[in-house]
Amino acid sequence: MQYHSTRENTPPCPFSDALRAGLAADGGLYVPDSFPQIDLDTLREAHYVETATQLLTPYFTDDILLPDLSAICSQAFNFPVPLNKINDNTYLLELFHGPTLAFKDFGARFLAECLNRLSTDTKTTLMIATSGDTGSAVAAAFHGKENIQVVILYPEGKISDRQAHQITCWGDNILALAIDGTFDDCQHLVKSTFTDANWQDYTRLSTANSINIGRLLPQMTYYAFSSLQFLNSQGEKPGFIVPSGNFGNVTAAFWAKAMGFPIRDIAVATNANTVVPDYLATGHYAPRASVETLANAMDVGKPSNFERLQYLFPALDTMRAHMPATAVSDHDITATIKHWYQTYNKIICPHTATACFAREQLSDQPWVAVATADASKFANVIEPMIGAPVPVPSQLAALLAKPTHLTSVKNDASAVLATVKAYFG
Ligand SMILES: *Cc1c(COP(=O)(O)O)cnc(C)c1O
Repeated sequence: MQYHSTRENTPPCPFSDALRAGLAADGGLYVPDSFPQIDLDTLREAHYVETATQLLTPYFTDDILLPDLSAICSQAFNFPVPLNKINDNTYLLELFHGPTLAFKDFGARFLAECLNRLSTDTKTTLMIATSGDTGSAVAAAFHGKENIQVVILYPEGKISDRQAHQITCWGDNILALAIDGTFDDCQHLVKSTFTDANWQDYTRLSTANSINIGRLLPQMTYYAFSSLQFLNSQGEKPGFIVPSGNFGNVTAAFWAKAMGFPIRDIAVATNANTVVPDYLATGHYAPRASVETLANAMDVGKPSNFERLQYLFPALDTMRAHMPATAVSDHDITATIKHWYQTYNKIICPHTATACFAREQLSDQPWVAVATADASKFANVIEPMIGAPVPVPSQLAALLAKPTHLTSVKNDASAVLATVKAYFG
C-alpha cells in the first residue's frame, strides 16, 4: 500500500514515510491509495487486537513495520472498548478507557509504538504544541519509549490545573515547557524548529498532531470492531454519531465503512463551532476563528482533517447525503448532560453530549453515540450541572498523585533549544 497527498503533488510513499513526514511536502494530507475490502467471515470470532491487526495488515504491505504490526496493536490497544445499550435504539461506544481517558489514546499509543520502532538508529525528538488534551495523550503514550524524546509546549496559565498536571507529571523522556505566550505562540515555535538550522543540527524532528496518518489509521479499528459486534448481536448495521472538531475521528469512520465494515450511516455533531454544518447547509466553506464552548477539545474553527473529507466527497451534494450534521449549543450540551444523568443514570462528558443531543434529531433506526472522553476530565463543569460528584477513575487518580515539575521558558526558539539541550544533553 502506498500513500499519496490529497493535493496529488507529492510522490506516493509507504506508511512509515508518510508517518515520519506528518504533512505531505505539497501541504496536503496523506491518504491511502485504496480501501481494501475486508472478509467479514474471518473476523466473526476475533477479539479486538486480532481484528485491528487484520484490518491494518493491507495498509502495511511493503512497509518495514509489517512484521511488527501484531505486536504494535497488542501494545497500543490494551484497554477495554465497551459498547453499551442505553435504550431501544441508542447505544454508547466508550472510547475513554485508555490511560488519559479519551479516544486520543488510540491514535497516540499506536503512533508511539510505530515511531519508537522507526527510531532505533537515531533518536527522534517529538515537538508538540498543546492547548490541553493532545499533550497529555502524547506524553502518556511516549513516556518510557527509549528512542524518543518529547518536548511539549503549552501556554503558561492558559490551560486548566488538571490538564497542566497531566502534562508536567512525567519527567524522564518527556519535557514539558510552560511558554510565556498563547497557544498560537506555542504552535509557531514548534513550526519554526522544522526550518531552523540550529534545531536540524541538534536532532531529528517529528510531530504527532492529528493530521498524522499514524494517528488516523488506528482509529478505524473501533468502528470496525464495534460494528461487527453490533451486527452479530443485533442482526443489523448501526449508525455512528461522531463528536467532531478537527474531523479526524469521523474520517476514520468513513474509511472503515469504505472497507466494507457493517456501518449503516455516519453522522457528525459539532459544538458552536459550526463551520462544517454551515458548509453543508449553505455550500459555502468559511473557516474562521474558534469560539470557546463547554466541549473545548472540539473548539476548532479551521478543521485540519476537512481536506481528507473533501477528498472523499468532492461534491457538496455527496457530502451532504453521506454526513448529516448537527450543531449543538452549550445550552443543549448542558440540558443533555442533565437529561442523561436523570434518565439513564449516566454521566457523559460535554463532547459526548453533542452526539447524544444529535441522536434525538435522527431517525429511530439504531444509532451509536461515540463517547470521546470520560466525564471526570470535566468534573468542574459537570458537577454543578448534575449536583453530584463525578467519580475519578484509577488512571486519573494515579496521575494526579504524581509530583509535577514546572519549567517556564520565554517565547523564543533559541531559549527553548537551550532548555531542551540542558535537559536531554
Ligand atoms: C479531539 C477530541 C474530539 C474531536 O475529535 P476530532 O477528531 O478532532 O474531530 C472530540 N472529543 C474529545 C474528547 C476530543 O479530545
